Amino acid sequence: MLSHIDDEDSVGSHSVGFSMSNHPQIILKILRETLKVDKASLHEPIFIGNEKDYLLDCVESTFVSSVGQYVKKFEEQLSDFTGAKHVVAVVNGTAALQIALKLVGVERDHEVVVPSLSFVATANAVTYLNAIPHFIDSSIINLGLDPTVLRDWLDFVSEQTAEGCRNKRTGRKIAAVVPMHTFGHPCAMNELIEIAEEYNLNLVEDAAEGLGSYYEGRHVGHFGDVGAMSFNGNKIVTTGGGGAILTNNGSLADRARHLTTTAKKPHPWKLEHDEIGYNFRLPNLNAALGVAQMENIEIFLAAKRELARRYYEAFKAVDGVDFFIEDKKCKSNYWLQTIILDQSISDQRELVIEETNRAGFATRPAWQLLHKMQAFSACPRSQLPNVEKLSQSIINLPSSASLIEC
Ligand SMILES: *Cc1c(COP(=O)(O)O)cnc(C)c1O
Repeated sequence: MLSHIDDEDSVGSHSVGFSMSNHPQIILKILRETLKVDKASLHEPIFIGNEKDYLLDCVESTFVSSVGQYVKKFEEQLSDFTGAKHVVAVVNGTAALQIALKLVGVERDHEVVVPSLSFVATANAVTYLNAIPHFIDSSIINLGLDPTVLRDWLDFVSEQTAEGCRNKRTGRKIAAVVPMHTFGHPCAMNELIEIAEEYNLNLVEDAAEGLGSYYEGRHVGHFGDVGAMSFNGNKIVTTGGGGAILTNNGSLADRARHLTTTAKKPHPWKLEHDEIGYNFRLPNLNAALGVAQMENIEIFLAAKRELARRYYEAFKAVDGVDFFIEDKKCKSNYWLQTIILDQSISDQRELVIEETNRAGFATRPAWQLLHKMQAFSACPRSQLPNVEKLSQSIINLPSSASLIEC
């Protein structure tokens, strides 16, 4: 759908359009004209299918909790759609990430490489295992972990030992790397996989934002050993709250299922547990919503890509503003539609966000950089020049699929 723009330089190019100085007003005008509405939220779910029927079915059947047909159905749909051999549905994306990290062996005092430009859950999940996030810069091409920075940094900071990759400065093991597909745009997976293999790191994908996104024709979330997805209310498909663990490894999937259901030994009536597990199983009620949502995912994705096309066309003529489009190798779900302001006008960013919000159009800055959080101030990090710049210049735009006639 966006193939007509594939030949153009996607990020750094500025079209020679009309020059504008008043960017807050220009951007507000574009939002009004492109969306043809008076106000718009950042991302709202749409329920145009069997949601009510399936929820009612849960209530009438009394199967609202951790047993019921919808959980299995939802897992099957996700497996079919993403191509992941195994899917384990859980209570939210953060829990999925926590278990995914545990599955690959992340333990107390290990370090886990994560992007600083991410939602806080990426780093939180690491700390839930008493491990330490290790922050790396992101690429301006795809907004995900920058493979060149990662390789140079690991080369500089790590050494290989009998126990694996070790941070020479802290003495701790670097156990895993977590690429995150920012706003739905896939990371440079080939390069990141190669680095993970070279440095003996497990690769866990934070694909929370990536349902419906493809890298070289393959759906994200199961490039590494394990991946995590989210179905929070603001994600592309929602279960109210929910998440999933994706893997192609049968024994990891079995272990994920066991751990997320309190590690109960299978038995018709005995309640015996063979380790400390988690109560992370997705309730049937939530899964019912997810099944109905997945039946319409192609409609949501088409709408979001059409919205991206309209934004791209509209912003083409504005100097200093780039609508962020997918990389050539990728197909993005365009979860959060994004513009990036040129350095020369990034001082107008706060004003753009203030004025558009005041006028009823929900726009947002990117997340607070994780390495700047007080809680993570002592965590190791590379130099982070790209994300420092990006965090000053990113604006997320209203992104709901409902903004396009479905
Ligand atoms: C949404 C999100 C999560 C966590 O998902 P929840 O379901 O909200 O727990 C994790 N990582 C990223 C990057 C996300 O956007």
